[in-house]
Amino acid sequence: MTLRKPEQIRNLALVGHAGAGKTTLTEALLLHAGEINQAGTIERGSTVSDFDPLEKEQQHSLDTAICQINHNQIHINLLDTPGYPDFAGRTISSLAAVDAMAVVINAQSGIESMTEKMLNGGAESDLCRMIIINKIDSDGNLEELLADIQQRFGAECLPLNLPSADGESVVDCFFQHGDVATAFSSVEEAHTAMVDQVVEVDEELMQLYLEQGQELSPEQLHEPFEQCLREGHLIPVCFVSARTGAGLAELLKVFERLMPNPLEGNPPHFLRRDGDKTTPVAITPDPKEHVIAHVFKVTVDPFVGVMGIFRIWQGTVTVGQSLYIGESRQFKISHLLSLQGKKYTEIHSAGPGNICAVTKVDEIHYDAVLHDSHDEDHLFLEPMPSPPPMHGIAIQTTRRGDEQKLSTALHKLAMEDPSLKVEFRASLNETVLYGSGDLHLRIVLEKMRQQYQLELETQPPSIAYRETISKPADGHYRHKKQTGGAGQFGEVMLKVEPLERGQGFEFVNKVVGGSIPTQFIPAVEKGIRQVLDEGVIAGYPLQDIRVIVQDGKHHSVDSKEIAFVTAGKKAFQDAITKAKPIVLEPVVSTVINAPDSSIGDITGDLSSRHGMINGTQVLGNKVEISAQVPLSGLEGYQSRLNAMTGGEGNYTVEFSHYERVPDNIQQELVRGYKPRADDS
Ligand code: GDP
Repeated sequence: MTLRKPEQIRNLALVGHAGAGKTTLTEALLLHAGEINQAGTIERGSTVSDFDPLEKEQQHSLDTAICQINHNQIHINLLDTPGYPDFAGRTISSLAAVDAMAVVINAQSGIESMTEKMLNGGAESDLCRMIIINKIDSDGNLEELLADIQQRFGAECLPLNLPSADGESVVDCFFQHGDVATAFSSVEEAHTAMVDQVVEVDEELMQLYLEQGQELSPEQLHEPFEQCLREGHLIPVCFVSARTGAGLAELLKVFERLMPNPLEGNPPHFLRRDGDKTTPVAITPDPKEHVIAHVFKVTVDPFVGVMGIFRIWQGTVTVGQSLYIGESRQFKISHLLSLQGKKYTEIHSAGPGNICAVTKVDEIHYDAVLHDSHDEDHLFLEPMPSPPPMHGIAIQTTRRGDEQKLSTALHKLAMEDPSLKVEFRASLNETVLYGSGDLHLRIVLEKMRQQYQLELETQPPSIAYRETISKPADGHYRHKKQTGGAGQFGEVMLKVEPLERGQGFEFVNKVVGGSIPTQFIPAVEKGIRQVLDEGVIAGYPLQDIRVIVQDGKHHSVDSKEIAFVTAGKKAFQDAITKAKPIVLEPVVSTVINAPDSSIGDITGDLSSRHGMINGTQVLGNKVEISAQVPLSGLEGYQSRLNAMTGGEGNYTVEFSHYERVPDNIQQELVRGYKPRADDS
């Protein structure tokens, strides 16, 4: 097979709210382009992209599927992403693989929370964006929706085509703009608006067009069009019906001729880590360069094992070649795969812009950079802003002896899912799963039951509390143990200071004159880090603390690593207890969409849970309420919201910051904490 040129490739993610029709649209495009002979349906669970048994059961995408369309010598990788806000983490991680996102909007329900999140998130990450209005066969008011989109996301959201007057097809307004009857606006008007916008970035063309009145061809407009996409100066809008097929041919043409190829999009933000510093690294999408590829998805299949799916940014990956994963591990590519939903075909090599997979490489992990030269050892891709998982649930196996099976399953699930975090709280002997919402956690638990045959017991969601200190304090500990033969001796004096919220942990060594020999400093840090995970007053991890090791004592015979681990740990605990420790709780920003009649109930309920309303916006007969509220105040919120809105409300949650819990809650948490018996 000859190597595909980057110019022949398009990498696009279909994003947007659940139910917008992304999976149906993917299926319809695959059929239209002749990749499949018959379109599957969501209801029958027979689509190419929703192949996981749980996806079929839920009738919604739960993870990103990679589908490919080969049409007119162009190879389009279409990433069908999940639309539930709970799975936004997975959607965001797939965006690292594409040059453009197409936000699909349901013509019937209009702008929804994920529409907004994705359009704004795409702008922050410098991704080229377009909008697809799907379900034009339904009874939605398309003219109003377009006006709504322009009002919310800017006048640069301009149609490339318009629905025909009978609603059964779409009329092109960019390539060949004849004068055909449309449902609203006119082809000429839409064409002029689009060209006016595009020429704004090219003075020469602007002169030809405005001053000399010259008609510009799509070829002449191509370069400035791409520039507009890169700069966010234009967000083209296309109309389509995945159900009737209206607009599919036009949409494919837009993908092929107007969406950026891997040479035309904004370059990804690769960075090189050099000690504490990072420097940007330019990527050259040249097949002859060194290989740089980024793993944006990992799946663990009971039959195929671990599969790492990656986008090649430069160089050529070939079967038989050895690649490194990040800084050290090396593996040989024995099979290189090209994906079509759950099916794959073996390929021999692939160049820049391609999306491929390798299997049976156990060390591969999400976000890894694959490369073929030690020069690229410390490369990483700047992570896209993604909400940290905050919804917790404590789990336990009900069958004795299943602990190892549980730990293996958790390890594999966390590998696949960047928005899942597993925390083992040694102090409470509790395993806590953190995800981005109730639905996310329910799906993970179901997978553990179905795929890993685990029987589980769960506790009510626990909140990811944290501990910190509110003033500086000194700590001291002398560890001295005489047990017959050799003794243990280590003494540590340190100071702790509060850091600003979100700063994490800082370890500073200010020991001079060898009072603690240099080789024992890592042991002191190790002891301190043990306390960080376990907390001191309520069993939650400590954060936002600087610890400065100032002085200590050693013994030429009895000082050994273990002695300084213990001394570091106890000195740190000593300092924390004197530094007015407090418990912090996560506060989230929430956006609630609901019928406007329920506004009083919703704001009243939020205020009673220490929430702060930031704003309300009425859109037609709907209202959007933005607020900040402690996460604990949103426990079981969907059912409360259902009760207040007759099932018409939905909400999104995003981590905002940590804040001190009220005194009564702190007392309760401290009372309920039983520190582990110390073994030192
Ligand atoms: P996703 O969650 O965005 O992937 O949306 P789906 O593809 O699962 O579609 C949600 C529902 O909308 C399904 O019942 C589809 O049959 C339906 N649907 C998708 N596209 C269209 C369309 O163009 N017109 C109509 N009327 N229904 C559609």
